[in-house]
Amino acid sequence: MDNNDKNNNEIEKNNNINNNTSETSGGKKNADEYEKVCYICRRSESRAGKMISMPNNIYICADCMQRTFDSLNNSGINYDDMMKNIPGMGNIGGFVFGDMQDNMTNKQKVKKKKEKTDSKKDIDLTKIPAPHHIKEMLDQYVVGQEHAKKIMSVAVYNHYKRVANADSDVEIEKSNMLMIGPTGSGKTYLVKTLAKLLSVPLAIADATSLTEAGYIGDDIESVVSKLLAAADNDVERAEHGIIFIDEIDKIAKKKETRSRDVSGESVQQGMLKLLEGSDVEVPVGATSKNAMVPLVTVNTKNILFICGGAFPDLEDIIKERLNRQGSIGFTADLKDKYDNEPNLCSQVTVEDLRNYGMIPEFLGRLPIVFSLESLTKQMLIQIMKEPKNAILKQYEKLLEMDEVKLEFDDAALEAIADRAMEKKTGARALRSIIEEYMLDIMYEIPKDNNIGKVTITGDYILKKGAPVIQMRGFETPLLSAHNA
Ligand code: ADP
Repeated sequence: MDNNDKNNNEIEKNNNINNNTSETSGGKKNADEYEKVCYICRRSESRAGKMISMPNNIYICADCMQRTFDSLNNSGINYDDMMKNIPGMGNIGGFVFGDMQDNMTNKQKVKKKKEKTDSKKDIDLTKIPAPHHIKEMLDQYVVGQEHAKKIMSVAVYNHYKRVANADSDVEIEKSNMLMIGPTGSGKTYLVKTLAKLLSVPLAIADATSLTEAGYIGDDIESVVSKLLAAADNDVERAEHGIIFIDEIDKIAKKKETRSRDVSGESVQQGMLKLLEGSDVEVPVGATSKNAMVPLVTVNTKNILFICGGAFPDLEDIIKERLNRQGSIGFTADLKDKYDNEPNLCSQVTVEDLRNYGMIPEFLGRLPIVFSLESLTKQMLIQIMKEPKNAILKQYEKLLEMDEVKLEFDDAALEAIADRAMEKKTGARALRSIIEEYMLDIMYEIPKDNNIGKVTITGDYILKKGAPVIQMRGFETPLLSAHNA
């Protein structure tokens, strides 16, 4: 995922958050929404128990207060006398504490848990769309990938059924997923669309930045911190969210390593308990635990984990296995039989993934494994014009505001798709290619109020000609001098 995409993800995520929740800035106004945090041990009220309020919005939990008294008593200081000499406790030893609780950013405050009346109330089964509805909604945004969309719709539906049915005596297993697909084939896009349609919080994390706790990099729990931030620090919403961990192939077990594999196998080990579901203590508003960050407990039992990766050399492993199987007996295959097979990844087995370097315990916690097809030229053309927010529709809208009609002819779409195929970065290449050609158009068109229509031609994309410009009220197209 390039930087631009990451920024877009962040922006989209933030928009999501803002849309789904009330405005949280503004300190005191909704201070009641946030838990008090102990000034000494940084635990929140739900974990440490009732807080003792001190002046200037400082809160101390009973444990820390007791410990302070004990140590003062042990050191022979008369605490009563001391308190009398400190007016208002606002200024101790010349250090002004200030309005600590209010100065704490909202990023680090945890929302209070709502009174629980009925555990089923959070998720209403009748509100979860049926799998065919989920797929229909995905169809409006995601081109192709029929198999992946079907699997995801069913898995997500079952997951939320399981959450709603938590009290039943038959425990339904968690449906975490592993998605394999080439770069730019829509892995992140599928998950983002799904979370948007279901309006559940989503966190997108990159496995490459994760390391075992204590080493440079993000702790594994930081993925849950991100989800908590996406849920606006509302623990209950976060506990029903989706975590997408991209580039999961980068934490494969390193072969022939003599040092400790802190960013590979250890990360897989560390993720086991998250995937399975357990109470984890996560830092609020930070990626690693330290003395100054409040901690909160999040249960990951109902969080849906989706892992995705391109698994670059997996095809060779699959090919080798298929060749091995095919080379026995009378029906022995030719060795290069699978060399030109387009979607070999769809034949992946757990055994292949183990050979790739994923540990069995990790794979065991991702029961749903599926692959995405590599995008064909035809699919790229569809991606440009068909989805609800297709890139061509976006440009058409932009020029429509200048009352200019924009059209791409078929030859232009083919030429753009050809160039994108050469780049081998899937649909991601489309935007940069189109942007390159649209720059001049977007610059020149607003200069002349008489222009009514622009047609981007194949020749313009192949740098052999210019776009066709039509003036308002003129039937015959005039070739623009620009770029001719
Ligand atoms: P990756 O598989 O590497 O995670 P992304 O999901 O980030 O790829 O895809 C990059 C962009 O390409 C998306 O933002 C989306 O606009 C577009 N895209 C990719 N695949 C599809 C698809 N099947 N249908 C529609 N758009 C797609």
